[in-house]
Formats: sequence, structure tokens, C-alpha cells
Amino acid sequence: MEAKNSSDEKDKPPSSGLENSPIVETAHTETMSPESFLSSPKNGRSSVTQESFLHSMPQSGSPSATFQTKQATSQRTIEFRSRFFPGVTDAQWNDWRWQLRNRIQSLAALEKLLQLSESERTAIQQHMGPLPISITPYYASLIDPKNPRQPIRRTVVSVKDEFKFSPEESIDPLGEDGHSPVPGLVHRYPDRVLFLVTEICSVYCRYCTRSRMVGQNDTTLRFNPTQWEHAIEYIAKHKTVRDVLLSGGDPLTLTDGRLEWLLSRIRQIPHVEIVRIGTKVPVVLPQRVTPALVNMLKKYHPLFMSIHFTHHDELTPETADACKRLADAGIPLGSQTVLLKGINDNVSTMKKLMQGLLKNRVRPYYIYQCDPVLGSSHFRTSVKKGLDIIQGLRGHTSGYAVPSYVIDAPGGGGKIPLLPEYVQGWDGQDLILKNYEGKLFRYPDRFGGRKNSSKDSDNGGAC
Ligand code: SF4
Repeated sequence: MEAKNSSDEKDKPPSSGLENSPIVETAHTETMSPESFLSSPKNGRSSVTQESFLHSMPQSGSPSATFQTKQATSQRTIEFRSRFFPGVTDAQWNDWRWQLRNRIQSLAALEKLLQLSESERTAIQQHMGPLPISITPYYASLIDPKNPRQPIRRTVVSVKDEFKFSPEESIDPLGEDGHSPVPGLVHRYPDRVLFLVTEICSVYCRYCTRSRMVGQNDTTLRFNPTQWEHAIEYIAKHKTVRDVLLSGGDPLTLTDGRLEWLLSRIRQIPHVEIVRIGTKVPVVLPQRVTPALVNMLKKYHPLFMSIHFTHHDELTPETADACKRLADAGIPLGSQTVLLKGINDNVSTMKKLMQGLLKNRVRPYYIYQCDPVLGSSHFRTSVKKGLDIIQGLRGHTSGYAVPSYVIDAPGGGGKIPLLPEYVQGWDGQDLILKNYEGKLFRYPDRFGGRKNSSKDSDNGGAC
């Protein structure tokens, strides 16, 4: 299949409208066109040189290139916009390139939006951590300006705890670099690969497992067409690979043209059956989910999308609209959620999130135990918390709303599912099971039960 350019419009980013914004710094406005953002030497990105990558971005205002929501915007976002971006038009606000250009990336910009705690201010001033600060204006509009404990604020604003390192932590907790046969590709499982296509995200999560590489200025971590070619060659040579997961960084920060180039090249490999995209963009930059993007994506089915959600505060009209667009394009949507201390580590928060996801046609897929990445101890919970949450969901709400709870085994052991102890043991041929209410039941496991009648469950007699 030949690479198709989804867009033939010229790359003319809109005027920023920043002259009317009280929060955006001049240097920022001068340098951050999306293309230069994705490849500017200032940011340590490599220039994309191959002809096939020179796809231009849709012109500002093109109906198919911007996110046009007819649904209500949350009151919080309306008030935020009128206070901090009073001169910005709807067209600008709903333009994903405008959102990227105006990301909040400095202490000065953040201080204009939020009352920072001493811990937040010190952490951002020190800026010694591996991960820069970056928040889209849209996502910033969801943040409580006065409460540093607000769940979603904690996920994107750094605090001093980020600089405390524990002995069990590592910069590469999943051992991805050790399972990387070519740069940017992780091959851990027999039939699938993780293809890291960019180091850029629109927002940087403070607990990111890949903080060693995302948002970095390290030129050795650059993602570029040559690297993509080597990864694609590897996939083509390995006929056992039937599933390719595009991740990063966030693949949806790439332009439509670059993403389509990747998808079309992967689709030319006969043994690749499915392609998946891992992204947080519909949550933090829903404006990116334009008609042009979904029209391009739906040419490459079967295509799945795993969306990184954290908290029900993220389920806004804008995100609902983005999910609807993707689902209407026939893309099965799943969610991935990291279990985070004080953010979503209780049954009621998770239930509200999972039920809200289903309403938005997103199937809850995974809850991850937070990986022991460097500086993550303030985010990590006990494993029992995760098990209690699954126990509080299973049977108490629709099965579709219950994701798998997994630990990604440190060092590269892969995802290992964890379940509360529903199987209590055998009593002869009877399997002893505990239901969601804690009641015990027998199942006559005639074809698999123990042939002798000796009880190997303490609970067998209770039924
Ligand atoms: S969006 Fe994903 S890759 Fe990017 S910072 Fe967050 S967790 Fe890391």
C-alpha cells in the first residue's frame, strides 16, 4: 500500500492570538510552531529530512482540520478562557496546534494560573527532574487553581517528592532498553512489538514510566525517519509479529502526514494483523481529534486505541466528543489507568471513572500498578489497594466496567494480572468459590476436580 497524504493544505499555523493572552511568554510564541516544536534543534529534536515526511499541516480554520464541538464546554473551561485567554477566538482555542504552541512550560506561566504551594514552586524552580513541565491550556482549565491536592493537578505539576529516590526505583523499571533489538522498538512478547515513534507528549505525567526518554533534550533519544525505517525493517523481517503498538511519547502529537506514513508502511507488512495506538491526547488535547485525523485513521483498520485516563474529572464534553469521533470511525477504544496514591486509589473514584468511560464508549482495559520509576514513591500504593478496587468493582457494576489489574513486572517480565482470591480451593471434586458478596459457593468441577475426597480448602465445609 502506498503512503497516502491525508492533507494537501499548506502549513500555515494560525496567528497565535497571544498578544491578548496575559500568561504566555514572548519567546514561547516566537518559536513554537507545531512543526518546529516537533523538530526544532532548540528542543534537541532532529530535523525530518526525507521527502515523504514533508507533509504539510492543514491550514488553520479548515473545517476538517479543527475540532468543532457542538456540545457544551464545561463551565470551568469557559471561565478559565475568559480570564486567562480573553482575546483568543473559538477557532484558536479549538485548534490543536494553538493548544500545543501555548502549552504551559515554565514557573512564570504556571504562577499566573495557579496558586502554587511551596513544594510545587521549589520543584519547578529546581527543575532537576528528568521530565519537563508541560500542560495544554485546555487541560490547565480543568485544574483547581487553589488546591494542590486536586487529583489531576498532582498528575502534571511536580512537587519536591519527585526528587526523592528509593532503592527499588529505576530509570527504566520495565527493562525496555534491554529488550530493544533496534532503537525505538521493544520486543518482549512473541507476537507483538512496542514501537516508540516520538519522544513528545502534549502533557507530561509526573509518574511516567518513560521519563528517561520523553521530553528530553538528549539527542541520542531522538526519534527520526531513519530510526522508523529500521524499526519497520525489523517488523517486516520477524513474521511472528502480528500486533504493533505505536507509543512513545504520544503518537497523536505527530502530524497527520507523519502518522499516516507510519501506518501505511506498517500496513504493507502482510503478517501484521492489528495496529494499536497508545495515547493520552483525547484526554489532554481533545482538539487534536479532528475529522481529518479520524478520516485518515479509519483507512488503516483493524486499528485499536488505548487511551490513558486517570480520573473522572477528565471526562469533559470535549473529551466525550473526541471519543465519539474515534468510536464512530470504528476504532475500538480501551482505557489504561495507572493506580496513583491520593488520586484514584479508592473504589468510588475508580467506579465513577470506569462507568464514565463506558458511557463514552471506552472499554476499561487495564489498571496498572504504578511502576517503580525514579521519584515515584509518592504516587505508589500497596498492591492490596489495587486488589481491593477490583473486588469493589467486580459484581458491583457491569463486567464491562471492570478492567484487568496488572503489574508490569520489573526488569521486563511483562504484564502479570492480579485477582482477588475468588478461588478458595477444592473439596473433593467441588471447587469452592467466593462471590462478590463474600459468600461461598460450590461448583461441581467434575472434569477437573480432585479425584480423592480430601479437602484442601479450609472453607470447604462452610458451604
Ligand atoms: S502521556 Fe504517556 S508517555 Fe507521555 S508523559 Fe504521560 S505517561 Fe508518559
